[in-house]
Amino acid sequence: MLRLLDGKAMALTVRERVRQAVQALARQGRTPGLAVVLVGDDPASQVYVRNKDRAAREAGIEARTLLLAASTRQVELEARINELNQDPSVHGILVQLPLPSGLDAARIVRAIDPAKDVDGLHPENVAALAMGDSTGLVPCTPAGCVEILDQSQVPLAGSRVVVLGRSALVGKPLALLCLQRDATVTIAHSKTLDLPQLCAQADILCAAVGRPELVRGSWIRPGACVIDVGINRLASGKLVGDVAFDEARLVAGSLTPVPGGVGPMTIAMLLENTLRAAQRSFAKRSGATTQVARARQERC
Ligand code: NAD
Repeated sequence: MLRLLDGKAMALTVRERVRQAVQALARQGRTPGLAVVLVGDDPASQVYVRNKDRAAREAGIEARTLLLAASTRQVELEARINELNQDPSVHGILVQLPLPSGLDAARIVRAIDPAKDVDGLHPENVAALAMGDSTGLVPCTPAGCVEILDQSQVPLAGSRVVVLGRSALVGKPLALLCLQRDATVTIAHSKTLDLPQLCAQADILCAAVGRPELVRGSWIRPGACVIDVGINRLASGKLVGDVAFDEARLVAGSLTPVPGGVGPMTIAMLLENTLRAAQRSFAKRSGATTQVARARQERC
């Protein structure tokens, strides 16, 4: 029988976990801070940014949104990011992508302090993930997929995972996270041959291609767990995933719906990344304070 993986409910669990941890920090007089930078007036980005800001506030995180004109120049944007890098009350920085044309997104991402890079896209964080070093910050959507698997008690170790899509934002980091958890991982993409046959081998099939309902029911191994990352709006206005839901539900053992699956998890993991970045920053500062106090004592 199909188990529907309710990302909305699971995201609430994560958000509550974060809220409680933020409350514990507040009792020590510490507040995590998140700065979201939005350049231009893309309506979809405005909605995403508003949702992130609201979710952060609900968790007790001090959120601020920097709204910058579409005409903002690269050097100005980098200067604003540098200010946020230097600001001790800001622990997480997120620049909403895509940026207006004329701005170099890769350079902007590199300008963010890796310790504050809550989107996990800075080369230092990408390298940490590739090296299997768990101290880096991980992109929110793939981290959310793994959280769904964990909360659903779908084991990764020893499982055959097929990830459809090789983007820097979803496919590659998701594959690396699964590998880190001892899964046997295959990454497929637009040039992969015989996708249906490959998908049929997966215990866990993750689709992140941005192609509405590409994955058919016949591609899915009976009983497999299917994580649908895709969000595609059809001409009719309906939102669908990369998996043909009505076919998949007849074959899969468990399946994330769209909407209400991976989507809500992305914001929840952003809050978790902000909390982690803040906790590290607080620990570093109290470590530094202890060292100074110790040095003073030794001098006395
Ligand atoms: P992308 O366009 O950057 O990458 C798509 C990948 O899919 C590419 O690697 C490409 O090789 C592969 N691909 C394209 N067509 C294919 C085909 N026919 N067969 C096999 N592989 C194919 O997209 P992305 O940023 O990785 O996003 C993927 C999907 O996930 C999109 O629908 C996006 O809206 C969605 N998304 C959802 C969330 C969320 O919070 N749920 C977050 C990010 C992205």
